[in-house]
Amino acid sequence: MQKIALLYDASQAVLSTFNLDEVLEQILWIVRDYFHVTNAAVLLLDPNTREFFVRTSIGRPVEGTKSRMAPGAGLIGTAAQEKRPVYAPDVSQDPRYIAHLSETKSEVAIPLMVRDEVVGVLDIQSEELDAFDSETLDLLTLFSTQASIALENARLYTLEQRRSRQLEAINAIARQTTAVLNLDGLLGRVCDLVLQTFPVDQVVVLLLDEDARLSVRAHKGKLTPILTQGAALPAGTGMGMRALEQSKTVVENEVAFVPHYMASFVETRSEMCVPLIFFGEKLGVLMLESAKPNNFAEEDVAPLESVADICAGAIQNAHYFEKAQQLAYIDGLTGIYNRRYFELEISSEIERASRYDGRLAIIMIDIDNFKRLNDEFGHLLGDEVLRQVSGAFGQQLRKVDVVCRYGGEEFAILVPQTSGGNAMEVAEKLRRMVEAYRFPGVPVKVTISAGVAEFPANGQTRDELVAAADAALYVSKERGRNRVSGASAARKTTA
Ligand code: GH3
Ligand code: MG
Ligand code: MG
Repeated sequence: MQKIALLYDASQAVLSTFNLDEVLEQILWIVRDYFHVTNAAVLLLDPNTREFFVRTSIGRPVEGTKSRMAPGAGLIGTAAQEKRPVYAPDVSQDPRYIAHLSETKSEVAIPLMVRDEVVGVLDIQSEELDAFDSETLDLLTLFSTQASIALENARLYTLEQRRSRQLEAINAIARQTTAVLNLDGLLGRVCDLVLQTFPVDQVVVLLLDEDARLSVRAHKGKLTPILTQGAALPAGTGMGMRALEQSKTVVENEVAFVPHYMASFVETRSEMCVPLIFFGEKLGVLMLESAKPNNFAEEDVAPLESVADICAGAIQNAHYFEKAQQLAYIDGLTGIYNRRYFELEISSEIERASRYDGRLAIIMIDIDNFKRLNDEFGHLLGDEVLRQVSGAFGQQLRKVDVVCRYGGEEFAILVPQTSGGNAMEVAEKLRRMVEAYRFPGVPVKVTISAGVAEFPANGQTRDELVAAADAALYVSKERGRNRVSGASAARKTTA
């Protein structure tokens, strides 16, 4: 009875801490000091492989392969499987015994159980034959119950700590993302925060494009990508699409078993796909990858879904912001791009043309005698002509050409991957089209004049190029309007 009381006191020490390492240390300390044992180990269950591995020990070296026990193997495996202590008073007579230490004569393995589940095994070996009497075995078993509770507490505590860290991260994501309106910056930030907080090796954000395909918009992590940034996944396949179609999180803890699995990263073994949905609108998928099988636990789903919800809101915000920004580049009267947009675009087109040794031309257009048209038929009709000319230009040009209202009745057109000569033809086509066009309510002929300049022959910078096209336009006006001139002609005239 006194022994039980002593043991009870000792057990309190085990229960006094939530730190797993401290719990384990206390267990072995009690085993050594109360039971005078010299060789003992606590083995814990590896949930992935179902093996027991030596987490901590006294009196014996932890050797690599021998520190792991296959399910059901040895006295340790038997104790775990049968969920009861297993004692071999003479190991040489016990067929279940697997030799670890040459000096061992007797061994006892006691399962550490929480409710009905084995979480570990306390293994004790002695150099004496039949070292443990039945009273000691009972006491050890009793102590093991206490030790199990302490282990479970430590596990729950770690889980709780992880959860609180995750909550903090979700909070941080919520705080940081609402401030970021640039979509790429935002997604990069989300990937970083998720990587720091959750047990994942790679974070990917895929967004639905206009063709209803998922394409990679951001990804971070240490895995080797198969898919590249901007690449689109084949339509209608993959776990991401499955998550999106079902509007629910999809987890695969061993992708090798997934039929037709499409790997996005070389090392992926586990994958989780959380749909990004904002007020019923499907935007994309948050994809998490791990090089470990069985990486995702049930309890990871809810916090990652919170992250995805915040993301979806932030992505939508960024979309709206992008749209608002676009509106700042649209001319209110005609609905085509304005001069600000032209200046932005011409700079990036010049940069692209220089990098790829490509061609680029610009066309400046001015409506002839527009003042007179306004004076004769009124400003409102003038506005209508501006709108119709803008629309007609748009219809005549390629998708890559950028038509902008440069000022009052002046237009600037960016014609990428085109020589000056070809741009002259384009301008001529526009001139003829306007000349032939019958503007409703306008009983007179409307004509335009144009000037064409090409990069880099007529100008290396934005300003030089615009000045060259302007000079060419001036030549067209000088020569009687309703015509097209090239910058080289302008140079000859001004020279
Ligand atoms: P030119 O052939 O030399 O280009 O003669 P023009 O009369 O077209 O040239 P000018 O630059 O002297 O006049 C441009 C006119 O365009 C003056 C202005 O009243 C008119 N204008 C500018 N913006 C608008 C607009 O938004 N709506 C209307 N209706 N007229 C505009
Ligand atoms: Mg004019
Ligand atoms: Mg003008």
